[in-house]
Amino acid sequence: MRPAILFSLFADAQTLAGVGPRIEKSLAKITGVKKPRIIDLLFHPPFGFVDRNYHPMLIDAETDRIATVRVHVLKHKPAPRGRRLPYRVMVRDETAVMEIVFFRAYEDHIKRTLPEGETRVVSGRIERFNDRLQMAHPDFIVTIEDANSLPMVEPVYRTTEGLAARTLGRIVQNALEKLPELPEWQDQAYHAKKEWSSFGRSLRNLHAPDSENDFSSDAIAKTRLAYDELLANQLAQALVRKNMRARPGRALKGNKTLTHKALATLPFELTDAQEVAMSEIVADMAQSSPMLRLLQGDVGSGKTVVAMVALLTAVEAGVQGAFMAPTELLACQHIDALTPMAQAASIRLALLTGRERGQKRVALINDLKNGKIDILVGTHALFSEDVAFRDLGLVVVDEQHRFGVHQRLELQSKGEKPPDVLVMTATPIPRTLQLTAYGDMEVSRLIGKLPGRQPVTTRVLPADRVEEVVSGLRRAIAENARAYWVCPAIQESEKSDLAAVEERAAMLENILGPVVGLIHGRMKAAARDKTMESFRKGDTKILVATTVIEVGVDVPEANIMVVEHAERFGLAQLHQLRGRVGRGLEQSSCLLVYHTPIGATATERLKVLRDNDDGFVIAEKDLLLRGEGELLGVTQSGIPEFIFADITVHSELLASARDDARLILQKDPQLKSTRGEALRTLLYLFERDEAVRYLLSG
Ligand code: ADP
Ligand code: MG
Repeated sequence: MRPAILFSLFADAQTLAGVGPRIEKSLAKITGVKKPRIIDLLFHPPFGFVDRNYHPMLIDAETDRIATVRVHVLKHKPAPRGRRLPYRVMVRDETAVMEIVFFRAYEDHIKRTLPEGETRVVSGRIERFNDRLQMAHPDFIVTIEDANSLPMVEPVYRTTEGLAARTLGRIVQNALEKLPELPEWQDQAYHAKKEWSSFGRSLRNLHAPDSENDFSSDAIAKTRLAYDELLANQLAQALVRKNMRARPGRALKGNKTLTHKALATLPFELTDAQEVAMSEIVADMAQSSPMLRLLQGDVGSGKTVVAMVALLTAVEAGVQGAFMAPTELLACQHIDALTPMAQAASIRLALLTGRERGQKRVALINDLKNGKIDILVGTHALFSEDVAFRDLGLVVVDEQHRFGVHQRLELQSKGEKPPDVLVMTATPIPRTLQLTAYGDMEVSRLIGKLPGRQPVTTRVLPADRVEEVVSGLRRAIAENARAYWVCPAIQESEKSDLAAVEERAAMLENILGPVVGLIHGRMKAAARDKTMESFRKGDTKILVATTVIEVGVDVPEANIMVVEHAERFGLAQLHQLRGRVGRGLEQSSCLLVYHTPIGATATERLKVLRDNDDGFVIAEKDLLLRGEGELLGVTQSGIPEFIFADITVHSELLASARDDARLILQKDPQLKSTRGEALRTLLYLFERDEAVRYLLSG
């Protein structure tokens, strides 16, 4: 249970003065939280600041710059009736005259705040207009006595339509009032060494900075908050991991009989990398503590066979296995790939997706319960309430990034004793990030390409050369090529400006004839299968698709990949898409078509992709390139997004947090010491509630 000291922070934002239902809606949009709470506002850091520290004499004032000046009010010049002219107030200092202008004038208000004959401090952008100095709608107008209250460095927040940045700023300031004094959870010595102030003061400093230095990413307050966040992340992961390991699992030892029979059906030799990964996994399964292992390997590195060996080992050990894919398409593909092996080993393989219904489903579930099915392949439908295994020993999760940590934990609650878990991902995650996302897991890696694979030739070109691409396609198809053509997903609101897949498919069919298939996420599964099948068989030569094909589709004959609006995709995603080709013996190519205007980072990204084909190299570069707010790749890969921490600059902090977390749990496994208690508060503060639950149960 959340400690009482945090209640005020987790109260609805609506309880703040000035927040009604309308503003709440805007806040929900900004924070991405349906029912925003006070903490969500405090955890919405400003992205920049306005510096009001420039105090020039008017005659020297640089134009187009925010200035704070002390002026004497000369004369009001109200807007002439019926004309669209502004209300003007003439002011001066010792050196020059300036006009303050108001386009929508509330005369009374202006007269009150800028009385003739008095002196005021005004702050705003100074411009020059027809050689006259002018300030339109000052941000602040205060008396000299109140000048001290003017924020010299004013935070600026990302906001949304209908909520002025200034209003949001005021609401956040109100939210700060609710911040309680929290116990210190940082190690005293470390804290002192870093010269950090308390969490509360640091958070205040973020929202009410003293100087612009407070905005640099190595500012003390920011660093402290980043560390708090990373420590919560690492401590939570360490707790999950410890809890998992501590539970009695079971030793799954195979005798290799099934595995040998199955592998004998393969038309290729296993690579060394595959052999190593298999033996790591098999050894881990033989341990009595539950396995929690990540199998990382670039697209097309041959993870599926490795998974099958793990599953067969489980069957050899007398238990059942489950193989979960993110989409029906992939589940079916896995079934196709695994069936020959299963037949050779005389074991029963079955498919369960949302499509198996009625009698068929009932029978299937029955067989599963009786243990007649050895390996069940499917989508998350595998884990519906009514699906019970006789004895589930291993769960393989393919393309993990579509599943969250929560689902991962849920998986392990299925069996009597927690089953072993093998998670497979093709997202090459830089080591630093791996810590944040998979710190609780062991890792096996499939490095290197499969034999015979040729690198894919990648070209980057602007959309006005699409015609060229199309005529190139025509030639290629004549020579029996097969191509994917990917457009970004259709989003209702963006429909108009996106090259909608339908439109693109129609256009291609127009030019190239009836060789075009179309596949997108909103199609019925059966229709999708049919489309996929005719592409696989070569009845259609071009498959126009949204990113539904992104994950794992395997059609070795496909050798051209066109990605439209490539600038909208993250690097990781583009790399995945490119991995769909280059699987056969033919030379393959990937055309990244971008639409202008294209930003510098996006340009750089496409270049990285053009010049590299190693997923890990690309991932590292992605991390370096990614500016704040350009987190597409990360969002895609299931890596947590941090509020305060920026992995590109705080990777050392992350390493410290990891060590700190380990040490903490060594010394105080139940978090019972004074620091331990405070650390519990930290976990709740960053909403790692489930990690704390482990403490209670453990
Ligand atoms: P991914 O890691 O993307 O899941 P897959 O397991 O789908 O990759 O393998 C991609 C293709 O490579 C499949 O057609 C598979 O049969 C083939 N493959 C797997 N291992 C090898 C190998 N050692 N030698 C040659 N081809 C292989
Ligand atoms: Mg795969």
